[in-house]
Amino acid sequence: MSEKRDYYEVLGVARGASDAEIKKAYRKLALKYHPDKNQGDPAAEEKFKEAAEAYEVLSDSEKRSRYDQFGHAGMGGAGGYGGGMNMDDIFSQFGDIFGGAFGGGSFGGSRGGPRVVKGTNLRVKMKLTLQEIAEGVHKKIKVNKLVNASGVTFKSCSACNGTGRITRVSQTFLGAMQTQTTCNVCKGAGKMIDKKPADADANGLVRQEEVIELDIPAGVMDGMQLSVTGKGNAGPFDGIPGDLIVVVEEIPDENLRRDGDHLHYDAYVNFVDAVLGSSIEIPTVSGKAKIKIEPGTQSGKLLRLKGKGLPVLQGYGSGDLFVHINVWTPKKVSSEEKELLEKLRKSPNFEPKPDHNDKGFFQRMKDMFH
Ligand SMILES: [Zn+2]
Repeated sequence: MSEKRDYYEVLGVARGASDAEIKKAYRKLALKYHPDKNQGDPAAEEKFKEAAEAYEVLSDSEKRSRYDQFGHAGMGGAGGYGGGMNMDDIFSQFGDIFGGAFGGGSFGGSRGGPRVVKGTNLRVKMKLTLQEIAEGVHKKIKVNKLVNASGVTFKSCSACNGTGRITRVSQTFLGAMQTQTTCNVCKGAGKMIDKKPADADANGLVRQEEVIELDIPAGVMDGMQLSVTGKGNAGPFDGIPGDLIVVVEEIPDENLRRDGDHLHYDAYVNFVDAVLGSSIEIPTVSGKAKIKIEPGTQSGKLLRLKGKGLPVLQGYGSGDLFVHINVWTPKKVSSEEKELLEKLRKSPNFEPKPDHNDKGFFQRMKDMFH
C-alpha cells in the first residue's frame, strides 16, 4: 500500500455514518477477510488489517474527530496511524464487535468469561378498537411463557470449566492462532443443570400462565410492534428473560376510516336539509358530535374538524376529522312526492349553476392542506 485509503472508504460508510453503521460495516469486513477463512491469502490479510485500523479510529469519537479534521496526517505522522495494528490488537477488539450475541462461531473475542443467556421473545397479538387507540388503554393479557422452574440448581459447566468458551488453536500462515468458540453445552453460560424437577425442560424452564399488565399508548397503528423489555421467556441456565412483543391489530371501525392520524367520515344528508340547512349528528372517537349544515350545502362538501382525529403517537397534538358531505338522493318516491318534485323541476333555482366557489373534490382537498 503506497497510499493510505480513506477510512470511511475502507469501511464503505458515509462520512456522517453512525457508530452502529460503522460497527456493522466493520463486522462484515472482519468476517469476510478473517484469516481463518482466507488462509495463505496476503491480500485478505491486508484488507483485514486495513479494516481493523479504520475501525479503531472511527469507533473512537476523539480519534474520529481528529481524523475528520486532519485526515491521516492527524493520526501520528507521515506513516499514518501507529504503523498499523497487530493481530492480537485486532482480535482483542472482537469481544466488543461480536459481543455475547455472536455465539457458535470461531471469531469469539479473546476476552470475557461466561455470558448471560437471554430467553426468547414472546409475541402476542392485540386487537384494539379505534376508541382504545384514540385514548390509549390499559390491558391485562394472559400469556403462556417459559419461566425458571422452582428447585433447579446449577453447577459449573464441565465442558468448558465454567468459562463459557472453548479455546481452539489452529495453524495459519501467521503461526499458531488461538480462536475461541462459545461452549455449545452451556451455550456460553458456563453453567449446567445440577438438579431439576421432572417437569422442567433441559434448560431448567417450565411453561406457566402469567397475567401481564400493559399500557398501550394512544395513537398506535395496525402492525406496530411494542416491545416490553424482560417480559418474554426466561433465559436458559438462569439467564435473563427475553422481551414481550405486542403486535397491534386495529379493528376496523364501522364509521370512521383512518388515514394516519386523520379520520374520515362519510355523512349522508337529507336533500331538504342540504337546501334549507340543518344540524346533524356524527360519530367521533370520543362520542357523538353535532355539526351544522349550512343552507345551500353542495354534495361533496368537505368539513374539517380540527383535532378530532387521533393523537400523534409520542408527539403533540392530534389529527383532524374530515366529514365528507353526501346529499342523499331518494331511490323511491311516492306519487305525492313526485308531484311536488315535478313542480320544482321547472324552478330556475333548481338549475345547476356551479360558480368558482364550487370546486371539484381534488381542489378542495388541496385547499385543505395549504
Ligand atoms: Zn460450557
